[in-house]
Amino acid sequence: MLETKVCIVGAGPAGAAAALQLAQLGIQCVVVDKAVFPRDKVCGDGLSGKVITALNRIDPEIARRLKEANFKVNSWGVTFVSPARYSLDVGYRPDYNSENNAHKETPIGYVCKRIDFDNFLVDEIKRRPEITLLEGVTVDKYELKADGYYVTGNKDFKVKADLLIIANGAHSSFTKDVANITMEPKHYVAGIRAYYKNVSGNNPDNFIELHFLKSLLPGYFWIFPLPNGEANVGVGVLSEAVRKKKMNLKKSMLDIIANDPVFKERFKDAELVSNIEGYGLPLGSKQRVLSGERYMLTGDAAYLIDPFTGEGIGNGLYSGRIAALQAAEAIKANNYSAAQLAKYDTEIYRILGPELKLSHRLQKLIKYPWLFNTLMKISSRNKQLQELLSCMFYEVDLRKKLAKPSFYVKLLLNR
Ligand SMILES: Cc1cc2nc3c(=O)[nH]c(=O)nc-3n(C[C@H](O)[C@H](O)[C@H](O)COP(=O)(O)OP(=O)(O)OC[C@H]3O[C@@H](n4cnc5c(N)ncnc54)[C@H](O)[C@@H]3O)c2cc1C
Repeated sequence: MLETKVCIVGAGPAGAAAALQLAQLGIQCVVVDKAVFPRDKVCGDGLSGKVITALNRIDPEIARRLKEANFKVNSWGVTFVSPARYSLDVGYRPDYNSENNAHKETPIGYVCKRIDFDNFLVDEIKRRPEITLLEGVTVDKYELKADGYYVTGNKDFKVKADLLIIANGAHSSFTKDVANITMEPKHYVAGIRAYYKNVSGNNPDNFIELHFLKSLLPGYFWIFPLPNGEANVGVGVLSEAVRKKKMNLKKSMLDIIANDPVFKERFKDAELVSNIEGYGLPLGSKQRVLSGERYMLTGDAAYLIDPFTGEGIGNGLYSGRIAALQAAEAIKANNYSAAQLAKYDTEIYRILGPELKLSHRLQKLIKYPWLFNTLMKISSRNKQLQELLSCMFYEVDLRKKLAKPSFYVKLLLNR
């Protein structure tokens, strides 16, 4: 039986970030994943600026290697399209200007297939002698004893750990059975994704596109440009609405592509080059207890996906890193109690809480198409608001302004 201070279950973005941050701190760990990498993960493949920020904080060399990787496209912003088809381009950098190339010095968003991005992170894990990575091992049992967690899986896997970092994604049984967090349709999104080739009309600066089409509200249809003329195309809708309206997401997406006047044209020469696959998005629109005796939940296993944008990779990396920092404190104090690890929750909600709240507010706004249309209409004429929206992605303190309801009231009154 292996013995370790920290065992990380899952080697996706959250688990990889935790392991790499622990290695940076000189702490050994065991990472176990049911998949053998490279492996696919159903996703939109959009990496916002948070990804580089998080990797940079773990180790600037990892961020540098990602910047140099050729499996991704650089993206400089997001196009939001409202139900009445008001379109708003928001550059990731507040100084974005499509007329000149100044902003291009530092792209802060990327689109890359998860099979490549996650394998990049696993390659980073493999560089570190402090990390023992076990692939192809499905963990199926967790037993808490006085001296630690006993974790078992197939291939005779057995490990005793002082502390668990749970990073096994949206379908984590630990989250459900031990942490008692269950799926609630109003805090969960159902998503599907497909790869297409030759979709036309993409933004020259590779903006990712979120189309809040009437038929999908409160969800959206997306097109994210990829290398080699491919695009990640998908649909995400709140599970509550999917159930209520008895929606078939695959049918809805194919219907949009075939019949919507705008997309019919853009997909005229396009070819579907993958299966259409679905997966869940556990949203951070509700605060939960993310730690307990000898464990911390991270990434999707902690329900940390942004409820407005659907972004979970950045929050996965952030939470993995925060869990590693808290693990280091617990090891130093030789204290793995729920009270000690509650500091993890405090840190998560201090750092990610304001933004999750704001996004929840924006998500609710989508339920009122007229308000959403109005906001988009105003925004397209209001430079200050555009800059603020950029800040949402660029991570400056101004973002806090956006979390205040008074901001929207003033905006609507002063238009
Ligand atoms: C349709 C869709 C579109 C999305 N689009 C975007 C987007 O464009 N941008 C964005 O930022 N986010 C997006 N997300 C969210 C993003 O995919 C997740 O937030 C992100 O993958 C979370 O990372 P994670 O490390 O927590 O979990 P995961 O990436 O799911 O990794 C979990 C790992 O745990 C392993 N595992 C699972 N069970 C076990 C077990 N029992 N034993 C051992 N290992 C196990 C898995 O093999 C996997 O490698 C999207 C999600 C969906 C479904």
